[in-house]
Amino acid sequence: MTDKTNLFDLPRPALEAWFAERGEKPFRARQLMKWLYHERVSDFDLMTDISKTLRERLKQEAELVFPQIIVDKTASDGTRKWVFRYACGNSIESVYIPEDDRGTLCISSQAGCALACPFCSTAHAGFNRNLTTGEIVVQVWMAKELLGCERKGNPRLITNIVLMGMGEPLVNFNQVLPATEIFMDDFGFGLSKRRVTLSTSGIVPAIHKLREVTDLSLAVSLHAPTDELRNQIVPINERYGLAALLEACKAYVEHNRQHGGVTWEYVMLRDVNDQPEHARQLAHLLKDVPGKINLIPFNPFPGSKFECSSRNTMMKFQRYLSEQGFVVTIRKTRGEDIDAACGQLVGQVNDRSKRERKLRRVEESV
Ligand code: SAH
Repeated sequence: MTDKTNLFDLPRPALEAWFAERGEKPFRARQLMKWLYHERVSDFDLMTDISKTLRERLKQEAELVFPQIIVDKTASDGTRKWVFRYACGNSIESVYIPEDDRGTLCISSQAGCALACPFCSTAHAGFNRNLTTGEIVVQVWMAKELLGCERKGNPRLITNIVLMGMGEPLVNFNQVLPATEIFMDDFGFGLSKRRVTLSTSGIVPAIHKLREVTDLSLAVSLHAPTDELRNQIVPINERYGLAALLEACKAYVEHNRQHGGVTWEYVMLRDVNDQPEHARQLAHLLKDVPGKINLIPFNPFPGSKFECSSRNTMMKFQRYLSEQGFVVTIRKTRGEDIDAACGQLVGQVNDRSKRERKLRRVEESV
């Protein structure tokens, strides 16, 4: 650890304040961000429109902290997974998913996860700590570099960012929010609010808070249509039940006039939540909240006790909901051969926490 400021930690207003404290004008923040995020220049000496004196000062008081690349693997379908290790030894995973018309980068918000959803391998790995803003932002920076995204005027290989990797982003609200600001800032990665998606298991007070400060796209890991079932597969539901969750989502969509509403994620677990009765209950539950439903085939991992629903069951589930007027997609599973699919990300987390402590942290953070 140094006492230098990691500039990846600072969204534009904070960077302006940082320069102001040093007697510099706010436009310095824009200059620096352009070098950093548009040109992807990380050497202060190469930032040629910044005076030499200021460059020297930057070298003394600021830094750009990069992780080590532990794994860099490409799957047969082009999906690419990285394991990044940060200075304190925690490692996390980021996944790039190329498609015909876009490229999605799935990033992590925590080293591990404290929420203990039994169908998710990150939960099995345990929880270690929240990532800092800089550690979240640098995943995108690194991915662009490693994908060889050209510096200017060339295809933008990363068109979408989803906070769907390791961790529960809303438990790490104060670090995640500034990162999303950098994603959406024209002087940062310049993505529109429709292309930055935060996926949450449903931390209700944080969804209310989020509504006041951002309008990014919201995805919610619903996975069950009743409290009874959801308590079992998304245990945070015991604290924040479905009624409160739906109310928070509705308020988010209304406040932000979010195009298309919430994305409801629903993992298809054989004989657990995939029966016709569940589809009926789901249709009833979601009838008043705008959104689209994304059915996710369950991806198994060593030690997982669940199985994925059959193709036929998923199609029937989808058909029923479509007939009820919902937009329903079945997510394509990508990167299976390199363990890069949803719920298969584990990094290398040394679980240092006890379950009680984990939950207390969840509570304290919102
Ligand atoms: N904690 C956040 C984001 C991380 S998980 C959340 O819960 O939304 C991203 C998505 O992958 C979530 O919808 C999660 O429920 C789903 N997922 C987790 N494990 C999975 C698995 N084994 N197979 C398929 N989807 C899984």
